[in-house]
Order: sequence, then C-alpha cells, then structure tokens
Amino acid sequence: EKYNLHEIRKKYLDFFENKGHLVTNSFSLVPKDDKNLLLIIAGMAPLKPYFLGTKKPPKNRMATCQKCVRTSDIENVGKTDRHGTFFEMLGNFSFGDYFKREAINWAWEFMTKQLNISKEKLWVSVYLDDDEAYNIWNNEIGVSKNKIVRLGKEDNFWELEVGPCGPSSEIYIDRGEKYSCGDENCKPGCECDRFVEVWNLVFSQFDKDELGNYSELLNPNIDTGMGLERITAVLNDADNIFEIEPIRTIIKEIEKITNKKYKNNNKDDVSIRVITDHIRAICFLVSDGVIPSNEGRGYVLRRLIRRASRHGKLLGIKNSFLSNLSDVVIENWKEFYSNLEDKRLQIKKIIKIEEDKFEETIDQGIEILKNYIDDMKNNNETILNGYKAFKLYDTYGFPLDLTKEILEDEKLDVDEEQFNLEMENQKNRARSARDKDNKNNWDSDADFNFKINTKTRFEGYEKLSTESKV
Ligand code: ATP
Ligand code: MG
Ligand code: MG
Ligand code: MG
Repeated sequence: EKYNLHEIRKKYLDFFENKGHLVTNSFSLVPKDDKNLLLIIAGMAPLKPYFLGTKKPPKNRMATCQKCVRTSDIENVGKTDRHGTFFEMLGNFSFGDYFKREAINWAWEFMTKQLNISKEKLWVSVYLDDDEAYNIWNNEIGVSKNKIVRLGKEDNFWELEVGPCGPSSEIYIDRGEKYSCGDENCKPGCECDRFVEVWNLVFSQFDKDELGNYSELLNPNIDTGMGLERITAVLNDADNIFEIEPIRTIIKEIEKITNKKYKNNNKDDVSIRVITDHIRAICFLVSDGVIPSNEGRGYVLRRLIRRASRHGKLLGIKNSFLSNLSDVVIENWKEFYSNLEDKRLQIKKIIKIEEDKFEETIDQGIEILKNYIDDMKNNNETILNGYKAFKLYDTYGFPLDLTKEILEDEKLDVDEEQFNLEMENQKNRARSARDKDNKNNWDSDADFNFKINTKTRFEGYEKLSTESKV
C-alpha cells in the first residue's frame, strides 16, 4: 500500500501546519451550544462561531481532522464505494484570512506534490457562475477546460440548515473506465463511482438564517473538507473506502466471526461493509458520551447498533458480536483518539447491553415481519399497515428504517403516516397517564421519569451514564 489512513492524516495536517495553520484535535461528535445540529457532519461545524465572527479564533488559519457522522448517508453505506455513516474529514480553514487563490493552490499542491496523484486523473468543478474560481483553475493552475465542470446548487453550494455557507469548488479523481456507469456523459457530478469527489473547497461568504435568507459575511472565509477514507482509498486503488488499512482489519475480523470470505457474494459483502462502517460509528459515538435511547443522538446510536446486529443475522451470526468487534476499532484508532482507550469498558458494556436487548426480540420480530410480508404478497398489497410497523417498533424494538429496509428488499413500503400517528398516540397516552399520576401525589416530572426508568428500562445505561460523569 502507498499510505494508510493514519499516514495521510499526518501528511495533511503537517502540510497545513507548514502553511501557518493551527492544528487542533478533532472536536467531539456531539455539537456544543448548537441547537441546529444533532451530530457533527463536517469539519466546519464545530467552528461555526469563528466563521460568523461571533467568537475570535485562536488563529485565523486552522486545520483539523474531524470525526463526522452522517446518518443521511446510511442507505448508501456498503452500496456505493464512497459513503460511510462515520468518516474523518480533513479540513483547512481560513477565518477572514486567505481566500480562493491560496485554497485552490494549496489543494493542488497537496494532491499533486505531496500525494503524487497524476494530474491526468484530476478533475474539478466550480459553481455555475463562479468565473473567479474557474479562471484560477484554468489559467493559474493549468487544468484544461474539458476537465472543469460547472455544477449547480446541489453539488457546488455548501450549506447546513443555518449558518455559514457559500459556493464551492470540488476536486474529483477519475478512477477509470471500470468504475463507470457506462453513460457517455459520465463526468464529475454523476452519481456513479467513477469520478469520486474527494475534496470540497467552500468559499464561505454567506450566513443563512432560519428563514432561508442569505446575508453577506463581514469577511469571506475558506472551509474545506476532504474525506480521509476516500482519499486513502483512491490513492491505493482500493475498490471502496473500507478496503484500506486499518479499516480492513475490521473486515478480517468479521470474516473470522462468520467463517465467510469477503468478496465471495455481493449480498454478504454489503452486510460486511455495513457492519464495518457501523461499528466505527458506534464506538466513536459512545466514546463521545452518546448512550442508546429513543430520541435524538441516542436514537441514532440505537439504530446503528440494531442495524449492525441485523446484518450480523443476515450473515448467520448467532450471538451478539458487536461488543467484541469494538476492540478492533479501539486498538486501531486509540493512538489518535485516546478516549477510545479511556472508555473501552464503557463502550463494550453499552454495546453489549443494547445488542443483548435487541437479541431477545429480533428473531421474533423478523419472524413476524416475514408473516406480514407473506400476507401482503397474498393479498397483492404493497404498503405495510402503519400500526403493524409500530407494533414491531414498540414490542420488538425495530426502528422504522429497519422495517422499511427489510420491506424494500421485497419492493414493499410502509405507511409512515399511520406509523407516526400511532407513535403520537402512544406519547399522548403516556402524557395523560402522567397527568393522572401527578394528581395522585406525583408532583414532578423527575419523579415520573425516575419511576418509569426503574420499571421499564434497563438500568444499565443510567448506571453507566452516572459513571461517565465522574
Ligand atoms: P458526495 O457527493 O459524494 O455524497 P458530499 O458532497 O456530500 O459527497 P461534502 O459535504 O462536500 O460531501 O463533504 C466533503 C468531503 O467529505 C467529500 O468531498 C468527501 O470526500 C467526504 N465525504 C462526504 N460524505 C462522506 C461519507 N458519507 N463518507 C465518507 N466520506 C464522505
Ligand atoms: Mg453526500
Ligand atoms: Mg457532492
Ligand atoms: Mg461536496
């Protein structure tokens, strides 16, 4: 292999340190003081106040390698070559300091001089009318016109719900004909995996408010993001972001557990990659203090554990296995993320409790869903009754998207509206029960929660979470 993940992380951070950037550790996956974001999905997210100018940065150039979790990509995981729910994002940032020219020049220098990627393979995109970026690429860097594409908002305007945003310019690597979708117009922006977007240079010039209004920021900023796994994969001519060191060690461990060979059968391979991805997300989320629950971040974690567990079943794994698998993640990333080692016991315990809990009901749940599917097929129905999906959730612990996913394999769907209605009804029932209880001398929510917790929920998490506060 050319370089592994850890080597490229270092190369990148060293490079930008040499260009005057302050390098800091990754921030937590749990956003701080940000009500608009559930989890950190990009390197810029924890730095928002510096872009907006509401806080003064320690230095006006910074570079990080940031842990990210994107649940919006969950369906792609294991299927495309380039998506994980968890990944690390390399980023260099300018807070009102350098702008397009430097950002583009340094990105090019890093790709061609540090990583020695052949210029032939590199393509770039610019936002529709961004002639400034176009001209820098074309005239100053010398990228030929046929390798510069102009893309619309979908690809080349980077924004969150609210906050700093702007047009962007992306660097793509052509992995060659064999990854092409075959379309004669296949080029950057195409959804297939031939031209892989590796680096996004965002010219962060606006602040978007809740109503969708854009206002010009005082200083134009630079916010870049490059997927560490992606660049490592492409550089090593790997087929996808999981077949690189050290992520491959997770695949190897799954092969051991299942007694199956990776790359024998496409369906199994997808499951192996899903587990490989999810176990990383799971470990990092727990190491940052997230605990499984029915809401918010905790629910993201719960979904990931249950989804991974189900893919384990698909591979024929009989018992819980995720807790042991987490050792492989901890071993391979602890040098760079020391809280993985610090929290090893907690990570293993939390995963074990959650997986065992799901173990108790998953087989029954799958059996029942199978019956539902058979009934639907017999009756020529394509939409599963929302009440039934709710029952799977409520009694057997099936997150809705898990039910959906299993249905999708059979080209079936679910009545989500009905599901949500059932969920709402249940919440109302709980609320009115609480109101009634309140009249009977229960005088606070805290009391109520305490009673409910001890009755219906595992105490393990509560215990663990108090431990973790110490
Ligand atoms: P794509 O179009 O391939 O989904 P993106 O445009 O959503 O990527 P950005 O939001 O621009 O990605 O993020 C910056 C970089 O982070 C990307 O260029 C890519 O290298 C990396 N990246 C984004 N999403 C993922 C993911 N799900 N898994 C791994 N790397 C990712
Ligand atoms: Mg994307
Ligand atoms: Mg994109
Ligand atoms: Mg992008």
